[in-house]
Amino acid sequence: MTVLGVVEIGGTKTDVAFGSTPGDLSRPVRITTTSPAETLDSVVDFFSSHPVTAIGVSSFGPLDLDRSSATYGSIVATPKPGWSGVDVLGHLRSRTGVAVALDTDVNGAALGEGHWGAARGMSDYAYMTVGTGIGVGVVAGGSLIGGERHPEGGHIVVSRLEGDRHPGSCPYHGDCLEGMASGPALETRFGRPETWAGDESVLSLVTGYVAQGARNLVYTVAPERIIIGGGVSRLPGFHEAVRGRVGALLNGYPGEPDLDLLVSPPGLGELSALAGGLVLAAGAR
Ligand code: ZN
Repeated sequence: MTVLGVVEIGGTKTDVAFGSTPGDLSRPVRITTTSPAETLDSVVDFFSSHPVTAIGVSSFGPLDLDRSSATYGSIVATPKPGWSGVDVLGHLRSRTGVAVALDTDVNGAALGEGHWGAARGMSDYAYMTVGTGIGVGVVAGGSLIGGERHPEGGHIVVSRLEGDRHPGSCPYHGDCLEGMASGPALETRFGRPETWAGDESVLSLVTGYVAQGARNLVYTVAPERIIIGGGVSRLPGFHEAVRGRVGALLNGYPGEPDLDLLVSPPGLGELSALAGGLVLAAGAR
């Protein structure tokens, strides 16, 4: 059996594992994301003890995914210190000696959910993460959509909820979707995440913004399903609350989708992006 390597590089932690399907994936080993050299060395070390035939990487971004670009496979300018311009793909290819494929964390998660999770068999769906940041991966007609750059669905314009005076935490846009509803944006208003479960004001606020993101997806790409994952989405009642808010926003417009089918938690739990790494690795060159 072909053993593939998978990596999910996040802003604070990096997970590595190997396997051929989500069902036989090794228990992910968690590395703290520190400097690029230290973090990527730990990834290389892991695969020298666990040989694989190819590696699929889902990473935070923004990433240069233009195959004709001289910096293809690199992290583009990021506020995360030391990571701007780091050639993740080239580094892992040269150090491991196997084929490596790279995509964004949300595109990876979308691929995983489409192959094995809540969007299995669907050709039009989206995966949104709501956590440290907000991102969206969209599959349309069976393929991930991307243009000159990968989409950045977390940075769309949202309407400010009544009474919300938070200036927004996005360093570029202030009150974009991510600036208003990411984990750090919620922490500014409500304190530590451990206190959020059961707090109706947290749930109401975050789903009020996330539902606007879902509405935009409904009207721009008409997905059969919008899977919402990430740490904030694990608040009790989150998906049910998003369904209600989306329904209110669509307000009976003709062709309204079945909201129970539309809004879904991930079918793979926290493994969506690592599972997507298997899909990426299978197509790596
Ligand atoms: Zn923004």
